[in-house]
Amino acid sequence: MSAKPLIYLDNNATTMAAPEVVSAMTEMLSTHYGNPSSLHHFARVAGAAVKHARTQLADLLGCRSAELLFTSGSTEAITTAFASAMSAKPGGHIVTTAVEHPAVLRNAEKYESSGSRLTLVPVDDGGQLSAEQFIAALSEDTALAAVMVANNETGVVFPVEAIVEACRARKIPVLLDASQAAGKLPLDIKALKPDYVAVSAHKFHGPKGIGALYLRRGAPFEPLLIGGGQERSRRSGTENVPAIVAMGVAAQLAKQRLESGEMERLRILRDKLEAGILATLPNARVNGRGERLPNTLNVSFVHASGEAILQHLDELGIAASSSSACSSNEQEPSHVLRAMRVPESHIHGSMRVGLSAYTTDDEVDYLLSVLPRVIEQARAASPFVGNDLADDYVESSRKDDPLYCDC
Ligand code: PLP
Repeated sequence: MSAKPLIYLDNNATTMAAPEVVSAMTEMLSTHYGNPSSLHHFARVAGAAVKHARTQLADLLGCRSAELLFTSGSTEAITTAFASAMSAKPGGHIVTTAVEHPAVLRNAEKYESSGSRLTLVPVDDGGQLSAEQFIAALSEDTALAAVMVANNETGVVFPVEAIVEACRARKIPVLLDASQAAGKLPLDIKALKPDYVAVSAHKFHGPKGIGALYLRRGAPFEPLLIGGGQERSRRSGTENVPAIVAMGVAAQLAKQRLESGEMERLRILRDKLEAGILATLPNARVNGRGERLPNTLNVSFVHASGEAILQHLDELGIAASSSSACSSNEQEPSHVLRAMRVPESHIHGSMRVGLSAYTTDDEVDYLLSVLPRVIEQARAASPFVGNDLADDYVESSRKDDPLYCDC
């Protein structure tokens, strides 16, 4: 019996830890396990390793290592940035976009429920954000502007340079959610000059549960975790040394990949997949226009169910993801596709493919070869076929749409 192939194409959700990352982490766990706060050899080795990892991450992000504090991931980094900016201007206005990750949206709504005004800037039907529209939403009392560098579902890249520049000119603190962009796009924080940047290691072949917050010197700051004063009192709690070291190695590898043209290989592979899908499944529609992350493809198939597509792909050993909510039995499309006003005929049948440095041509060819049959099966089982779904966008009937936690 031949084993079915296992193909991982859900790299925007998370990535495989690189072998180099695993071995660095293992070494820290088993050999150099000192607490950096102690006063002996083990502590010094661990402390030096953390210092080195901070330099490696700073090198990837284009900032100084002193400006980085390690967190448990982007969610914590984002929450810290919100708490910092909002404590400097309690009740202040928040500007963000309608298609942010729930880590940003939930924080924004939390402050809204305690009296802050919240502006959610929309995107167009290609998922693109207008810098002018975002900037026009800023006001005298804006306490924080928060925007993602690239969208996790569509890969669409946002005009963050213009937004940061406008915020700086108005002295408005600005948070960039670079969770998806780090390691896939060159980032130069020094040149951009935002106040806060959030990143998560598991998005670029590091381990889960470790990330970082870039904090511009002079930006409002309020620690989320207080206690033993680690991370120069900016994030207390014994450092997760193995994960920090692993993140450093992942950052170094990511930098090498950016410099070696790996992203161009992924772009070519993604474009081949996209062209192949559109050629064989003419009713498919690509969600996302303009500059996109080179590894990301979000595509909708007319009258299909995203859940059924994923299930059939899973049976064939292919892991992808859908933009549909999985938290309810009643399949609800994602807030990102809703915000893009994807037509009702397509919105339920979406699939997101996230390629990685470990994705091969053969894997993409295999997906292309099975997809027509998978879509046919997904349509056959679909509650949407025969429902005469509109080719236009239809407002959700559920006004209280839960913003499910996609990644
Ligand atoms: N922001 C974006 C754009 C993401 O894709 C993710 C990933 O899920 C996050 C924030 C949150 O990252 P984490 O779950 O690692 O904290």
